[in-house]
Amino acid sequence: MRKPTRTREVGRGERVLPGVWRLRLPLPWPGVPHCNAWALAWGDGVVLVDTGMHEPGSMAHLERALEQAGLRLEHVKLVVCTHAHVDHCGQAPAIRERTGAEVWLHPAHGHLHANDETPEETIARRIEVARQSGVPEEPLRRWAEQRRSVGKGISGELVSDRDLVPGVTVASDLGDWQVIETPGHAPSHVCLHQPERRLLISGDHLLGRVSQFFDEGHTPDPVGEFLTSLDRVDGLDARLALAGHGRPFTDVHGHVEANRTLVAESLDGVRGALASGPGTAYELAQRIYGDALSATTASWLLALARSHLTHLERLGEARRGDAEPAEVWSAGS
Ligand SMILES: [Zn+2]
Ligand SMILES: [Zn+2]
Repeated sequence: MRKPTRTREVGRGERVLPGVWRLRLPLPWPGVPHCNAWALAWGDGVVLVDTGMHEPGSMAHLERALEQAGLRLEHVKLVVCTHAHVDHCGQAPAIRERTGAEVWLHPAHGHLHANDETPEETIARRIEVARQSGVPEEPLRRWAEQRRSVGKGISGELVSDRDLVPGVTVASDLGDWQVIETPGHAPSHVCLHQPERRLLISGDHLLGRVSQFFDEGHTPDPVGEFLTSLDRVDGLDARLALAGHGRPFTDVHGHVEANRTLVAESLDGVRGALASGPGTAYELAQRIYGDALSATTASWLLALARSHLTHLERLGEARRGDAEPAEVWSAGS
């Protein structure tokens, strides 16, 4: 009997609106099979919003997706990144090199650390955070080994030709898109809003399948920043969101609400974990997530736990103890 072979994901392109194409690009990550880049018609070319991650063969996926949309890489006149995560900006340096297109990015993209650190330094920094969170030695060692075996996901030094901040507009045949700062998921996150057509390019700020990720450790309170960003986007009254992963979705307000609910539930979960006694972020994460905390989910769930603890600290509901040997959190102010 032949074993069924899993078909390898490839880049795909499809028109979602006149002048807007979704480019679905494969990712090597478990649980996140692909990301979206968006091509917006602009004169005789396109603006490319997000780029996909860089890895062997990734440029061919992008070119295949563009071809299905009747486009070529040479049509890209401008690259705009919703934020500095490699699945959204990884191919930006290579596209800039090949096409001469400018790359626009929010100035707070230092959290990527790709420009100023070697992969070893990045691993060492992440290990330090994990150790401080009380993660035991053995899983840390395995994680570091795994990390060394994957690439950085970015095709060169990330250079921004223009700061993508409020007041800057991105021109297209559909009209101008406004830059909306939406930190929380990442400090550099922005959404693009086209007010006349009520369209929102939402990046990872709002996804069709509600999920949370906070790139924490760079700003005082990612959860608080995320909640403020949700309010900001809710006020835009957009009718269609083009997200960084998954299909476009309507009912933008409903998705904002679902995210607020998820944050509230997560904070309650952390309050509950703190109520059964002090613990390191890792111990609290074990109490909150139980069996869901595995080698593949640990760094994501630990970041969630740390982000929510930091938010509760700011609300005066949690206290962090000395950092040696690991930070112990307790309830109260
Ligand atoms: Zn992201
Ligand atoms: Zn993403």
